[in-house]
This record gives sequence, C-alpha cells and structure tokens, in this order.
Amino acid sequence: MAEQLANHGDIKNFQDLQREVIDRGLCGRCGGCASFCSADDMNALSFDRTDGPRLVCEDSCVKCGICYLICPQIKALDSEVREKFGWQAPIGNYRTITSARTTEAKVAEVCTDGGVVTSLLRYALKKRIIQGALVSRQAGPFLRQPFLAREPDELIEAAGTHFGEVEHLDEFGKAYSTYCPTIHEMKKIGQLQLNRIALVGTPCQIYTMRKMQVLNIVPADSIVLTIGLFCMENFAFDAKVTAALEKKLGVAIRDVAKLNIKDDVILTTASGEVLHVPFEAVDEVARPACMACPDFANDFADISVGGLGSPDGHTTTVIRTGIGQKIYNGAKHDRLIKELRFRSKEKARLHRTEQMAKITAFVRRKKSRARAALAAESA
Ligand SMILES: Cc1cc2nc3c(=O)[nH]c(=O)nc-3n(C[C@H](O)[C@H](O)[C@H](O)COP(=O)(O)OP(=O)(O)OC[C@H]3O[C@@H](n4cnc5c(N)ncnc54)[C@H](O)[C@@H]3O)c2cc1C
Ligand code: SF4
Ligand code: SF4
Ligand code: SF4
Repeated sequence: MAEQLANHGDIKNFQDLQREVIDRGLCGRCGGCASFCSADDMNALSFDRTDGPRLVCEDSCVKCGICYLICPQIKALDSEVREKFGWQAPIGNYRTITSARTTEAKVAEVCTDGGVVTSLLRYALKKRIIQGALVSRQAGPFLRQPFLAREPDELIEAAGTHFGEVEHLDEFGKAYSTYCPTIHEMKKIGQLQLNRIALVGTPCQIYTMRKMQVLNIVPADSIVLTIGLFCMENFAFDAKVTAALEKKLGVAIRDVAKLNIKDDVILTTASGEVLHVPFEAVDEVARPACMACPDFANDFADISVGGLGSPDGHTTTVIRTGIGQKIYNGAKHDRLIKELRFRSKEKARLHRTEQMAKITAFVRRKKSRARAALAAESA
C-alpha cells in the first residue's frame, strides 16, 4: 500500500476530497471514504445518506489519504484498477454475454427483470461459496436500505423494486432516492469477522470497492464476488420536486407499484398501467453526481447485469471473470437459472451481437453525457 501511495506524490486527504468532489456537487454518496475510515478505526468521518460524508474529528485524521484515493470521482488509481481487472474498450473485460432468467417461482414473483441476481446469490450462499451478500432492500417507495443477507430466503426481501402500499403512505413527504449507500455498510463485514462476502452495486459502488482492493485495504479484502448493475442514473427528489414530476408524468408517485430501469425508466402503477419515461424527461431529478458519471456497464464487476438487451422477464448477464463464470455455471447446472433458447446457433449469435450493440450505445451515451457535464461545470 505504501508503494501505491508513493506513486501518487503528495498525499491528499479528506479536505482535498471536500474541495474537489463534495463542494462541486460530484459526491455520489457511495460512502466508501467513511467506510474505510471507520473500518480502520480512525473514525474521522461520519456518513449520512442525505448529507454524505463529513469530517467530524479532525484530530482523528491521520492524513493517510485513503479516502481521497478510493473516491470514484477521483482519477488517481484509474490505471491501476484497469490493469488489475484487465479492462478493455468498450465495456471492460468479459467472457460471455447471455439472456437468462430464474427458475425459482418465489424469486420470479418479486424480481426486477429475470431474477438472475437473486438466484446466483442464493446458489452461492447455499453452496457456502459466500457467507453473506451485501444487497439493498426496499424501505419504502423510492427508498432502499443496505442489507447483509446471510440466508438464501433473506435475498427474496432484497429482490426487485416493488413498493408495498402501506409503506407508501408512511414514507410520503420525505426525501426520496433510488440510490442506496451499500458500500458504507461494508464496515459491518469486518465487525462480524466475515471474509467471503458478495456485493451487489451500481458501477460507482463496485468501482470504489475495486480501488480499495487495489490498495489492499479493509474491508474490501472480504469481498469475493461482485455483481454489478447497469446504471444510467439514480434519482433523488423531495416533496416539492415530486409534485412537479407528477404533473409532468401524469401519474401520482404514490400510485407507482414498481420501478424498473432498462432502455428508459419504466413505472408500473398499482392498476397495472405501464409508463415508459425517457431518461431526458427525468434528468432533472437525477442526482448531479450521476450526470458526471461515465460507467454504464459496471466494467469492473465479476458479473454485470441489466434489463437492456433482453426480452421482458430476462436479465442480460455479462460474465467477466473466473469467479463470475463459476457461480453462473453452478447455478445453471443446478437449474436455478435458465438461458433464453434460440432455434439455431446463428440466431443465438445474432442476439448476442444485438445485445452488445445496445450496451455499447448506452456506454457511449453515458460517457459523452459525463464529458459534457464536467465541461459545463468547469466552464
Ligand atoms: C438504480 C438502478 C439503475 C439501473 N439502471 C439500469 C439501466 O439504466 N439499464 C438497465 O438495463 N438496467 C439497469 N438497472 C438494473 C436492473 O434494474 C436490474 O437490477 C437488473 O437487470 C437485475 O435484475 P434481476 O431481476 O436479475 O435482479 P433481482 O433478482 O431483482 O435483484 C436485484 C438486486 O439489485 C439490488 N438492488 C436493487 N436496487 C438497488 C440499489 N438502488 N442499489 C444497489 N443495489 C440495488 C437488490 O438488492 C438485489 O440484490 C438499474 C438498477 C438500479 C438499482
Ligand atoms: S484518516 Fe485517512 S481516511 Fe480518514 S479522513 Fe483522514 S485521510 Fe481520510
Ligand atoms: S468516496 Fe463516495 S461518499 Fe466519499 S466523497 Fe467520494 S463519492 Fe462521496
Ligand atoms: S449513474 Fe449510477 S453509477 Fe453513476 S454515480 Fe449515479 S448511481 Fe453511481
């Protein structure tokens, strides 16, 4: 680790992070900085999902600079991460791409797309390849909380994005965010002395964790499997913006029963009406950090997943690494997941080509949006 730090000349610390990221509105609230600082018992930082990280005890800060280096918005370590995880243009290292779905009825009932994430994790837990999975579960409409699932059935709670009607009303009037600060919860792994954990997260979350792994620091050393969600953007809005949004969409947020993000944002109402909203129409409630974020396909995960490129009820699954392949093959062998069937090898090849073309188009779109946002910010 000392060698890694030496490569980066003068050590920058949280005050630099405050100036270069937080004050510029680029903090994505991943919680990585505070997670490391508290997991390593320095506790100089606190973290709140609404306010983000904050320096609470200057005397505790040993100026190690780790919080600065692991922030996904900081370029330091980009080349080290790319090298360690064999990144290649345009979507990162990968072995194969499929469309698959769960065969488990109770997963299919609640999942977002094909339920592949939940069934892969359930397989890995049942086979004791992992001791737990850091996921996020629904805490209300447009509100999720991080959750360490230790039993296969606990993963059912975390699958999908269906909103219960009762919590709907209780939660109304608060600030909403589809983003969940899962990384911050990583500190629990060390406290529980677990060393084989899976992490499900957005590209910014997986990237923060990969930077921690490059530096070989706690608690990232306990993450043995990463499942990365495709991600165009996440939303955060308060009651005032909710009202404006409802007017624009023509639907009351409290009537939304399911949220999905694929080629666009898909809202399903309690009465079963499906509403497709283009990203451009909801960009105004996307978190500012998301507008400057370049990673769509979760380039550094072991397995990346999304709905884009697959028929309804299926998950597009990009298998990138050896451990990713092992879990996927095992779950397929045990018939927990099933691949989309084609009439010929030619049709299967055509489907993969179409999937790659769609993913690559979104990868380019997100990178160019990030470039434009950063150029506008520094103008
Ligand atoms: C904020 C967000 C943006 C997305 N954007 C796109 C997109 O632009 N295009 C696209 O094709 N797909 C996108 N996805 C991925 C897609 O919605 C599905 O999650 C993915 O296809 C897996 O489906 P599944 O049925 O296999 O997962 P499931 O079996 O339903 O499991 C979903 C898993 O995701 C976890 N999860 C749910 N919400 C969050 C969250 N906010 N933060 C961290 N983990 C979470 C759950 O804990 C669960 O483990 C996005 C997902 C999220 C959460
Ligand atoms: S102790 Fe290290 S990780 Fe914590 S705030 Fe200071 S520089 Fe950052
Ligand atoms: S590491 Fe995450 S929470 Fe910390 S400043 Fe960077 S984006 Fe924000
Ligand atoms: S767009 Fe997705 S990956 Fe990027 S900062 Fe927002 S939530 Fe994170």
